[in-house]
Formats: sequence, structure tokens, C-alpha cells
Amino acid sequence: MTASRKSPAACLIGWPAAHSRSPLIHHYWLRKLDLMGGYSIEAVPPEGLAEFVLHLSSHGFVGANVTIPHKERALSLSLPDARAAAVGAANTLWYEGSQLRSTNTDVEGFINNLDACAPGWEATKDALVLGAGGASRAVAYGLIERGIRRVHLVNRTLPRARVLADQLGGDVRAVPWAAVVDLLPRAGLLVNTTPLGMHGQRPLEIDISLLPPDAVVSDLVYVPLRTPLLAAAQARGLRTADGLGMLLHQAVRGFELWFGKRPEVTAELRALVEADLAKH
Ligand code: NAP
Repeated sequence: MTASRKSPAACLIGWPAAHSRSPLIHHYWLRKLDLMGGYSIEAVPPEGLAEFVLHLSSHGFVGANVTIPHKERALSLSLPDARAAAVGAANTLWYEGSQLRSTNTDVEGFINNLDACAPGWEATKDALVLGAGGASRAVAYGLIERGIRRVHLVNRTLPRARVLADQLGGDVRAVPWAAVVDLLPRAGLLVNTTPLGMHGQRPLEIDISLLPPDAVVSDLVYVPLRTPLLAAAQARGLRTADGLGMLLHQAVRGFELWFGKRPEVTAELRALVEADLAKH
């Protein structure tokens, strides 16, 4: 679908302009909801980012997604909401009047996907999060916001997890990988936010037989869709939430902010994106 001069258009700002599923997702919703609008990918180099973002509407856009390497600078070029400020990165921009606002929709993408896949997951007191990078920040913030009592952050580089735990506040504890074995038996939620298990990466070596029988397992990796971690969890009969679900759920809010209607994550949309993932 292409944008006419009058119909609203949004874009994904990145550098380089990598292949992204976002146009597929937003065009599907525009068609489904019978809305005029467009969504394009804009390759913007770091030296051009400030001009592009600060004049987003003059460039013809009502808002944007922001991806690597621009998420941190996009935050400083806009007025962030509490989530983007806490995560330290913005992935969605929109206008409130003439004010350019920003948020981080990975937080609700993660949480809403869990709600959809494993209702009641929040009954757990202890969540174990592997990784302490940008995605972990969004995940841990979402867990605290949702009221999970203790979040254990496991990271290869422990000081990075400590910094994150200190910044997030609440009961977030930085722990080394060696502590995982002791934490698994009381972890009602296990989340992988590292790239381990992704195609081309080393596998994630973790003994999920140690998890309690009602644990929920989530993996942010979505290539492959069914990661070895998720496959092992499903083989044990545990409930799971995958990375593609998070990707689809994180797109909902941007669409609503730009085009005025809240879209749904449907099985049809998921199948469409799965087919695209299988091609590339
Ligand atoms: P990031 O900021 O680079 O952080 C990567 C994290 O993984 C760090 O904690 C890093 O540990 C750890 N790590 C990397 N390689 C490792 C290895 N070989 N062994 C152990 N730990 C390792 O990346 P990110 O933005 O958080 O993204 C992480 C993953 O989440 C990526 O696979 C990304 O595609 C995925 N993701 C998915 C979604 C979704 O919607 N499904 C959204 C966002 C991200 P150190 O601190 O020790 O380096």
C-alpha cells in the first residue's frame, strides 16, 4: 500500500536499511482495517539523524519506528514517556500536537505476548532473565512494572547486569551464570534475551528440567521460530512465549498512535510473517 499525499505515513528509521518485517506487519493492518496510509523504510545515516527526526513531519511522516543504531539518540531528540526513559532507548516516535514523543514498545510487546501465550504467568515471585543488553532492559522494566517481586539478571559480563539492576531499582539482582542452577527451581518465568540459540550462534546450554512444573519459558530469538530452548520447554509440557509473538505485539502501539485504530495480532498475521521469515 502506498501513501497518498493526504494519507498518513510512518517509517522505520535505521542505518543501514536492513530487511525488516515491519512494513509487512503495518501494511497488513492498514489493509485489514481498511485505512489509507503507508509505511516505508528510511535509511538515515547517524550524521543525518537529528535533522530527519526533528523534521519528521516535514519529511511526510506522522511517526516512526527507530532501530539500530539510532534508538538511544532518538530518545534524546524527543520527549520520552516513562518506559522509554527507563529503558534508555526509543523505538517508536509520534506527535502529540507539535511535540515529538517517544516510547519503547518492546516493553509491552514482551508483556502482552506473555499475557496472550501464558495467562496467569505473573503469579510467579521469581523471574530469571538471561542477558543484560537493550532487550533485557525492556523485559526487566516490564516485569517490575507488572509487579513481579524479584527479577534475577544473569549476564556473561556481570558488571553490565549490576549497572542495569542499579538503574532499574526494585528487587532486581545481578547474578553470574554459575548461579543459574540454583535459581532455576524457583523461577516461574525464564526469559532468554541473549542471541544464544539464534541461527549461526552457539546454543543456549541450560537444564530446563530444573524449572518448576508450572514455569513459563520465553525466548526473544525468533530465527529459528522454535528455538531449542522453546522446543525443550514444550517437550516438558511447559508454556512458552516466542520472539515472533513479541515482535508482533510490540508493533501494535505504533500503529495505533499513527493511524488511530488499535490493530490485533491475529493468527493470519503471524502466518504471513512466518512465511516471510521462511524465505529469508
Ligand atoms: P545487546 O544489547 O547486544 O545484548 C546482548 C546480550 O546478550 C548481552 O547481555 C550479552 O552479554 C549477551 N550475549 C551475547 N552473546 C553472548 C554469548 N555468546 N554468551 C553469553 N551471552 C551473550 O542485544 P539486544 O538488543 O538486547 O538483543 C538481544 C536479542 O534479543 C537479539 O537476539 C535480538 O534479536 C533479540 N530481540 C528480539 C526482540 C523481539 O521482538 N523478539 C526485540 C528485541 C531484541 P554481554 O553483556 O556479556 O555482552
